[in-house]
Order: sequence, then C-alpha cells, then structure tokens
Amino acid sequence: MPREYTYGPFQSRRLGLSLGVNVLANYKLCTYNCVYCEIGLTKKDNLVSPNHKIHLPPSPNFRKELKSILKYVPHLNSITFGYNGEPTLNENLLEFLEIAEDVRDELNWINEKPLLTLFTNSSTLYIDIIRERVKQFELVLAKLDAANDVDFKRTNRPHHDTPNIEMIIESLVKLKQEMPKDHKLAIQSLIFNSYKEEFIPNNNSINILDLARALKRIKPEIIQIYSTARIPAEYFVFSIDDDRKREIATIFKKIINDKKIEINVY
Ligand code: SF4
Repeated sequence: MPREYTYGPFQSRRLGLSLGVNVLANYKLCTYNCVYCEIGLTKKDNLVSPNHKIHLPPSPNFRKELKSILKYVPHLNSITFGYNGEPTLNENLLEFLEIAEDVRDELNWINEKPLLTLFTNSSTLYIDIIRERVKQFELVLAKLDAANDVDFKRTNRPHHDTPNIEMIIESLVKLKQEMPKDHKLAIQSLIFNSYKEEFIPNNNSINILDLARALKRIKPEIIQIYSTARIPAEYFVFSIDDDRKREIATIFKKIINDKKIEINVY
C-alpha cells in the first residue's frame, strides 16, 4: 500500500522513536519562512495568513496506513503530527487525532503507549478554536525562537497577518493554562548563528534574555534548546555549538528559577 500520510518511524533527538504524520498536502504550506527551515524556503504563494484555513479531512486510507505500520513498531514513543508546514492550518486536524488515538488504543505496546504529539510554530494559537484543538494533543511542541519583534521577524519571517510576538507569547501562556493537567507543553527554541555580517542571528544576548523572560511567563513543562542539524533554507545560517547551548540553558535556569521546568539541550 503506497504511503500517503506517514513518514518513518525515525529516531528523533527529542522524541525517541517517532512516526511522522503529515496532515497537509504534499507541498509546504506555512505562516512562516524561517531562515533555518530544513524543508526549504516557503514559496510566496505558500506563505499564508494564520487565518488561512484548509479543509483536508483524512481519507479512509489514513486508518489503514497507520494500522499497517504501527503493528510492526510496538516500541514506538510518539505519533507526531507536523511536517510540510504548520499543521494547525488544517481545520480537520482533530479527525486525524481521533483516528490515531483509536488505532493506538487498539494495539498492544511493549512500554508506554506512544504519545500523540503535535508540532506547531505557535503563530495560530491566538485563535481560540485552534487552542481548543491543540490542547487535545498529549504533548505539544510549540516553537518560540525569538521573544522580541525584531528577532522574530528576522528569524521566522512571518506572513504579514501574523500577530506580534507579545500576542504569540500571551497565547502560549493561555494555552498552558487551558491544557489538561496530564498533557504537556514543550517550548522549542532553535538558536543559530550567521556567517553574514549584516544578519544578526537569534543567538544574541538581547534575544536570549527576552526568551528567558517569556519562558518564565509561559511556564511550560519542558524547554528544548537545539540548533540546525540539516541544510538550512538560507546558506548563511549555521549551528551553535554544544557549549553555547549549555550556556543558554544556564541563563534560562537562572532567570526562570523554577525547578519544575525541565530544560534540555539537543
Ligand atoms: S515554521 Fe517550521 S515549517 Fe514553517 S518555515 Fe519555520 S521551520 Fe519551516
């Protein structure tokens, strides 16, 4: 049976063994055009407003495809929704989640059941109905690479309808408060360097301090600091090293000052 929706499973640095699920079409559709994006630049017509809705319900093949793969990986750690752009643009997202939950719960697992995980770039979370959907996932991995508008625009190059960074941070605060207690919010911050003198990367002290203050307000269960691992959309972007990741973790720990929040570097 040809695969239409799933990728992998792959061994992921942050999720363990993870099966990727794409809920968008087979081309990139995103509200951002991040300089470091590992699936390439967002073409002009595919850079869309966070208000843009697509109607793409799962076909009956989704259930069949999941079943046919999952029975071979009883040690899977995560069924991960994302890939090809921003998954919350699909208003049928919860139909995919319900099917995945059903299929998962019918099978036997060696360890814990794989988590139902969602990647989001956070741009749509100011919309109430989207937070309602997002909070149904057991683990939400939400992007926050910058915490001031200058670094946000430079790093993520959002569609012009995207709200400012303060509103995005506020919507992450709300999402955390609204999520069921047994679901977890992880904030992912990808920090990078730049070879181009005139391009200031998000690895700058103002942004790192702003991020720490924003994370203190959001209070996620987990913070993940990482850098580029594959070819970035822009040639001038390159990865920060492990020492810098640890240094940023130390700054975050000091400012956030909350032992309940797990801070991990990858
Ligand atoms: S949000 Fe994700 S998919 Fe969209 S441009 Fe950024 S890295 Fe790429």
